[in-house]
Amino acid sequence: MNCRHCGTLLQHTFLDLGSAPPSNAYLSKEALTRPELYFPLKIQVCVHCWLVQTEDCAAADALFTAGYAYFSSTSSGWLAHAKRYADKMISELGLTCASQVIEVASNDGYLLKNFVAAAVPCLGIEPTDSTADAAEKLGIPVLRKFFGEDLGKQLAVEGKQADLIVGNNVYAHVPDINDFTKGLKAALKPSGTITLEFPHLTRLIEQAQFDTVYHEHFSYLSLYTVSRTFEAAGLRVWNAEELPTHGGSLRVYGCHADDTRDTHQSVDVLLKEEANRGLQRLQTYLQFQPRADKIKDDLLAFLIEQKRQGKTVAAYGAAAKGNTLLNYAGVKPDLLPFVCDAAKAKQGQFMPGSHIPILPPERLLEVIPDYVVILPWNIAEEVKAQCAELVKAGTKFVTAVPELSIS
Ligand SMILES: [Zn+2]
Repeated sequence: MNCRHCGTLLQHTFLDLGSAPPSNAYLSKEALTRPELYFPLKIQVCVHCWLVQTEDCAAADALFTAGYAYFSSTSSGWLAHAKRYADKMISELGLTCASQVIEVASNDGYLLKNFVAAAVPCLGIEPTDSTADAAEKLGIPVLRKFFGEDLGKQLAVEGKQADLIVGNNVYAHVPDINDFTKGLKAALKPSGTITLEFPHLTRLIEQAQFDTVYHEHFSYLSLYTVSRTFEAAGLRVWNAEELPTHGGSLRVYGCHADDTRDTHQSVDVLLKEEANRGLQRLQTYLQFQPRADKIKDDLLAFLIEQKRQGKTVAAYGAAAKGNTLLNYAGVKPDLLPFVCDAAKAKQGQFMPGSHIPILPPERLLEVIPDYVVILPWNIAEEVKAQCAELVKAGTKFVTAVPELSIS
C-alpha cells in the first residue's frame, strides 16, 4: 500500500491489533446468532510525510456506513467546549449576519446552534440522516453529503464560500485526506479561516492510547503532517493550540497560502516539540507495539486474577475505545460479565466481538461490583463522581491506559 498523502510505499507497521469488527458495530440479540465480520486492524507509518494511517481493508465501506450514529450533544463537556469555541471565533474573526460559517460533519448541530443564536449564517455538511434531522430541527440548514473537492467547488460556484470552515473530529476520519483538504481550499473565501480539531499523535504515543485506534479512524495526525497536507493543497497553518479534549487534541488554524496573516510562533514551538519527541524518527513508531501489548497483558492478568479470587467485575462506558481494548485482549463475558452505558440506544445491545451485554448504569447499584473498569479513561473522573454511592460501598475503579490503575 502507498501513503494516502504522498504516495510513498508503506513498509513500516506502527501497530498491529490483529482482526476486529468495526468498533461501532454494536449487535442486537438476534445478531449474536449470525456470523460477525472481522477486518484486519493494522496501522502503518509513512517515513516520508510521517502520516500514520490504517492499512486499506477490502469491502469495508458498506459495514462502516451502517454503524451506530453518535450524537455529539450527549456529552455536556463537549457542548460547553463548542460554545466557548463559537464565542471566541465570532469575536476574533468579527463574524456578523453578513458572514458565512460552514461546518463539515456538523452532526446534530451541537456547534452550529451557537452561530444560529448569534445570527451568523451557517451551513452544516453531514451525510448521516439521523443527526442531520436533529440539526435541522434547531434551524440549521444541512447539506446531506460527504465533503471533498467536488463539493467544495460546487459551494464556490453557488457563492457559498465561507469566512470560517470548521471541522471537529472529522479530519482523522476521512479516507482521502488530500481530496478533503482540496475541498477546504475550494470552499474558503480569500481571507477566510479554517479550524480543524483532531486527537494529537503526540499524546497517543506518549500516553500509549492504542485503544483510540479503530478502522473508521483512517489517520493519526501530527502538526507536522497536517502542515504538509495543507501546503500541498495551497493552504497554510498559521496558528495551532493544544486542547485537553479526547485525551489531548490539536486545533489548527488554516488560511490560503498567500493570505497576509503572519504565522503565529505557536506553530514553530509545537513543530519543534513534535520533533523533540521523535515524531520524525522511525524508531519512535517501532517502539509502540510492546507498550500496547503490556497494557493488554496487564488488564487480562488483572481480570483473570479477580475471577480466580471470586471477585465481581463490571465495566462502564460502551465506547469505541473499549471495543478496541477488549477485542485485542480477547476479553469475553466470562471475565467481564456486563458493561453499563447511559446511552439508551446502546442499552440491550452487545459489544462487537466480545459480545458483552450493555446494560443501564442502575445495574451497578444492584450488583455493587468489587471493581468497575472504566473503558473511556478520558472521562474517568466524571464517571467516578457520578458513582459516589458505589465508592461509599467500597467499589474500586480501574483504568487500563496508559497503565493499569486501581483507585
Ligand atoms: Zn506519506
